[in-house]
Amino acid sequence: MKTIAFFDAKPYDREWFDHTNTHYDIRYLESKLTPATARLAEGADAVCAFVNDNGNAEVIDKLHAMGIRLIAMRSAGYSNVDFKAAYGKINVVRVPAYSPHAVAEHAMGLLLTVNRKLHRAYNRTRDFNFSIAGLTGVDLYGKTVGVIGTGKIGRAFIDICKGFGMRVIAYDAFPAKDAGIEYVTLDELFSQSDVISLHCPLTEQTRHILNEDAFAKMKTGVFIINTSRGALVDTEALLNALNSGKVRGAGLDVYEEEAELFFEDNSGNIMKDDVLALLVSRPNVVLTSHQAFLTEEALQNIAQTTFDNLDEFFENKNLTNEVCYQCELGKVVENCRKTRKERCF
Ligand code: NAD
Repeated sequence: MKTIAFFDAKPYDREWFDHTNTHYDIRYLESKLTPATARLAEGADAVCAFVNDNGNAEVIDKLHAMGIRLIAMRSAGYSNVDFKAAYGKINVVRVPAYSPHAVAEHAMGLLLTVNRKLHRAYNRTRDFNFSIAGLTGVDLYGKTVGVIGTGKIGRAFIDICKGFGMRVIAYDAFPAKDAGIEYVTLDELFSQSDVISLHCPLTEQTRHILNEDAFAKMKTGVFIINTSRGALVDTEALLNALNSGKVRGAGLDVYEEEAELFFEDNSGNIMKDDVLALLVSRPNVVLTSHQAFLTEEALQNIAQTTFDNLDEFFENKNLTNEVCYQCELGKVVENCRKTRKERCF
């Protein structure tokens, strides 16, 4: 029986992985994967990791030295793995789609909450405060939403927005042909959108795609929704834009510096991250802790696809969901082995 070192395990992971597991010995570890904890994988055949685990070059080398040849990411995003370091040493697989609807629906939930101030209304009525002063929102109907990244989640979000009667414009570095999407330049998207929602991966090209320059080009009163990766937004620039009124509200499921904080109960600690403390203190910011994926359907799909990925690896088959540093470029690579249905190395 193959042993899987499962880092950053949470009760909901165990529930769905145990429910779906048929033939693996899963060593659940509460620790996140870091250079210091990598040794906990000693004796395992593969590592299973999540979005805030650290797959940097040091970790890759330590795992490789212990004989680990596979990291199975149980996430779609994989910006936390150093693929150049992994290439030739450790194959990396992921779960490319588990429920784009889960994330897209959460993005709309954030937009509705921050626009109609549902979080504030909830607190008021719990206190029998039935005043509605200060809770005015705007109709989404007829407004323009700018979607950055029109992959699986971006498109699910576009469909939801169309259901609300919104005009949809989009930017993608690799636009989908014949998808019936109105593509515009990034600058046009910034200047025309009443709502901007991020659905692209975090890469060197997209890091701080919403920065001071970008906020300067936006309409006053724009809503920002980020369910993708925290570092797509320069948080200090967002705070300035919230202060100036340029941004009317922000719904965030991710945060640049979330790795040490999210998925843990920090309620008994003094919050040392001043930027996060400032964000959370704003009445027009709604922050959730990277939970957009968290539906029963998504958890079931994550577990099943991860087991399928592990089976393919241990049965020496082609790795359907393998990613490498070339894939990360997001474009068709000449002589890509994956397109020939071979392993990346
Ligand atoms: P996807 O690969 O289907 O789509 C990503 C899209 O982004 C593609 O169309 C791609 O062409 C586009 N893109 C790539 N580089 C770009 C660039 N420089 N500028 C603009 N667009 C670019 O991915 P997906 O399944 O739709 O997921 C999108 C992102 O959502 C993931 O990368 C991940 O970061 C995030 N995500 C978050 C959660 C959560 O729980 N909050 C869960 C799953 C995924």
